[in-house]
Amino acid sequence: MAELVASVKGMNDILPPTSAAWQRVEAAARRVFTAYGYGEIRTPIVEHTELFARGIGESTDVVGKEMYTFTDRSDRSLTLRPEMTAGCARAYLEHGLAGSEPVTRWWYCGPMFRYERMQVGRYRQFWQIGAEAYGVAEPTIDAEQIAMLHALYTDLGVDGLTACINNVGAGEDRVRYRAALVAYFTPHVASLCGDCQRRLAQNPLRILDCKVPTCRAIAADAPQPVAYLADATRAHFDGMQAALAEMGIPFRLEPRLVRGLDYYTGTVFEIVSSSANLGAQTTVVGGGRYDGLIEQLGGPATPAFGFAFGVERALLAMGAAGVGAGTPPALFIATRGAAARQRATVLAQALRTAGFVVEVEHREVSMKAQLRRAEKLAATYVLAIGDDELAKNQGALRHMASRTEQPLASLSAADSAAIAQAIAVAR
Ligand code: AMP
Repeated sequence: MAELVASVKGMNDILPPTSAAWQRVEAAARRVFTAYGYGEIRTPIVEHTELFARGIGESTDVVGKEMYTFTDRSDRSLTLRPEMTAGCARAYLEHGLAGSEPVTRWWYCGPMFRYERMQVGRYRQFWQIGAEAYGVAEPTIDAEQIAMLHALYTDLGVDGLTACINNVGAGEDRVRYRAALVAYFTPHVASLCGDCQRRLAQNPLRILDCKVPTCRAIAADAPQPVAYLADATRAHFDGMQAALAEMGIPFRLEPRLVRGLDYYTGTVFEIVSSSANLGAQTTVVGGGRYDGLIEQLGGPATPAFGFAFGVERALLAMGAAGVGAGTPPALFIATRGAAARQRATVLAQALRTAGFVVEVEHREVSMKAQLRRAEKLAATYVLAIGDDELAKNQGALRHMASRTEQPLASLSAADSAAIAQAIAVAR
């Protein structure tokens, strides 16, 4: 026998009925985000490597260690997208939206790729849903996006939601804060991990995000960014909190919160859930403001705010609702013989047009086996078509739960309206 080819490590198939739960998350995102004025963007999965190097930052783990980068046949360096914010920013510039739309609101859903160390809940292909808003500097849009996520997760049945918020500063305050961090960490440099020693020179804010215990212990007493905010940033942060409070969105200040990517300026946030389904990993989504990114990629200065969350994590937070279930057929048509199968196929075609989920047994197997299958599929009704039924053009609609039958005066597709009514009535 030929050897089987397995899927790539860390990249999973999503099969039915699990895929139904994925569809539920995507449908809820589409519904909720549309209500806030966000339109869906789809970008290529592959971008020029330079986009991520410039957009996400060379000092990040994502760019430094985790990208799937390859050269194509024309010797171009390309990368499978590890996140979407850089690709969205590229599309925003490439399509000239900075000049043609004062405000752009996009949401997206798709697979991302990171060559991560294998661990529970971490994959090399994973799915993210996210959104980006360009063109608004005012703090109410920060609050609006956080409220939008609160609405989405509430819709998905995830409870105990709290937005953890912080402000990492922008412009001058960021420069002063950076200097304070360098002053704080420099005496500890020998005790920091290799990555953090490099981060100290490149982007000391990253050290606050390090998971290595010795680095965490040192970072515990590091200066906090909110202490360095200039008046304008402070006012922005206050304005966002006032809007959140008035909308009744639970939030708390998390003075040590920084996010893993370099482009954040000002507001950063994560939403945590106390749902028991999540265990120790309580964060369901994170994001923030990145007012410098568009300019960094060669565009005009453009304020921007966005977030992304992992669909796998969202499904985990949803518990049983995140497992997925198939759609049971309203009608299962059991058949015997080629003529019966053809009649069933034609009839089912008409009933599906009327909106019913109908499954036809096309295989020549025993009636007993067909009924077992109908039960396994949890079909509401079964209609058996054999020689007898064909000859008389009559049959019986069997209601599986009550084990009752009702006669059908015709099995012709032309009479499908009457059959449809019989199915609809007892449902
Ligand atoms: P980030 O883009 O790193 O801020 O990640 C945003 C969210 O994407 C995280 O909170 C996770 O839910 C999800 N995520 C990031 N990396 C992975 C991964 N390797 N596997 C699964 N989910 C991930």
